Amino acid sequence: MKKAIKNILLEHFLTVIGSFFTILFCFHISNANSTSSKNNEKNIPIQRPLNLFNLEESADTIFNLVQKVGAKPVANIQKTRLKKNENLSSALKRINFEPRQISKIINTINKLNKGSKILSSLPVGMIIHYSNPSNLTGGALKLNYTKTKDIFVWQDIRNNYKSEVFLRPTRIEETLVKGVIKNNLYISALKSGIPENTLLEMITLLGFSIDFQREIRSGDSFEVLFAKEIDILSDLVTQTKPIKYVSINLSGNEFNFFNYKDKFGSPQYYDENGKSSKRTIMKTPINGARLSSRYGNRKHPILGYTKMHRGLDFAAPSGTPVFAAGDGIIEKAGWNGSYGKYIRIRHTGTYKTAYAHLSGFHKKVRIGKRVLQGKIIGYVGTTGRSTGPHLHYEVIKNNIQVNPMKIKLPAGKNISKADINDYKSHIQKIIKQKIALEKSNQDNKLAINNHNIQKILNVN
Ligand SMILES: [Zn+2]
Repeated sequence: MKKAIKNILLEHFLTVIGSFFTILFCFHISNANSTSSKNNEKNIPIQRPLNLFNLEESADTIFNLVQKVGAKPVANIQKTRLKKNENLSSALKRINFEPRQISKIINTINKLNKGSKILSSLPVGMIIHYSNPSNLTGGALKLNYTKTKDIFVWQDIRNNYKSEVFLRPTRIEETLVKGVIKNNLYISALKSGIPENTLLEMITLLGFSIDFQREIRSGDSFEVLFAKEIDILSDLVTQTKPIKYVSINLSGNEFNFFNYKDKFGSPQYYDENGKSSKRTIMKTPINGARLSSRYGNRKHPILGYTKMHRGLDFAAPSGTPVFAAGDGIIEKAGWNGSYGKYIRIRHTGTYKTAYAHLSGFHKKVRIGKRVLQGKIIGYVGTTGRSTGPHLHYEVIKNNIQVNPMKIKLPAGKNISKADINDYKSHIQKIIKQKIALEKSNQDNKLAINNHNIQKILNVN
């Protein structure tokens, strides 16, 4: 009778203590998550416990947890992986858990939120850390079932199995990567340590301004600022945050883009003047002109028969300025048969625009030179096969003319006048952060060099 009361009291005491430690443990993890982005110096990983039983490196957290929740002590933590065509039960059987233990373990996981769903979708290859139960030691498991979560299973003092899902503790690391392109941006960027998804972001973002096929030269350079989320326990990158800043220098032409979120919109990228990274192609690269002939079949005014018109005609007086429809490189500027005086601009790997029947070219237009959207490139005329002064304008997608009225390139809005001051101070902060990271990267390099020098000195 007395013994029963004592046991109840003991159990009650253990439950209170256990939940206290569980709360403490959760708090510790969430704390690690929230402070890490603010201050990198404070991101000291959770202290690993002493390696009393010569445990495998990554198994120490079972030990850690067992200590914290006051569970039955464990020893000899081992590691296996979930094999193809295995579920947790058969895996546990393979690693010598007894059927009675297995059903208790499955039971406790089933009771977790979405437990049965978790059990039915455990990934093949999942790492299972485990301790086999014995008279002296408790059964325990750690299932690293997603990139960010672990399930722990342990035995309490009364040999009952308990389980809980824990977020893996992470820290945020601001990262600046600089590189020089050897042959290929993709390979050079990966080699310099840019994670692949960050690189894809970078290519999408720069793709509006740059033709990766043709504009990249060996010796061109780039830098990217982004944050990595790192699993403190495994030291692996679990995810990357959107690029904050990217810069690429192509033979002296520099492109800089900064991530900025205005009061209403989602984050977008803008250059240092607040111009959107998303460049569209103008449908009407001329001011005050009348659309005189649309894209499509028409009776040709000179040839007399029906012919596909693969552009737009804008009637305007001779000498009316014609604008570059988008940022790009002048690919052709000269006489081009029935097109007369003709300019073609290559905007990206995909899009080009062409301007025909011009009376003349702007004095700065040269083949191979970069032009910006809206800059004057030439003047309306009636050269080549033409009945009167007009601009014949073509949009060329993958070397085929398309209807300029129907192209759907996303046009990014530029930063509004109301937001420009906020934007400018925002990019100043990013630049300051970049400079600080540059300095700490350099210090690290110096430290490594000094270390090597020391090693050389020691050898001699
Ligand atoms: Zn035409």
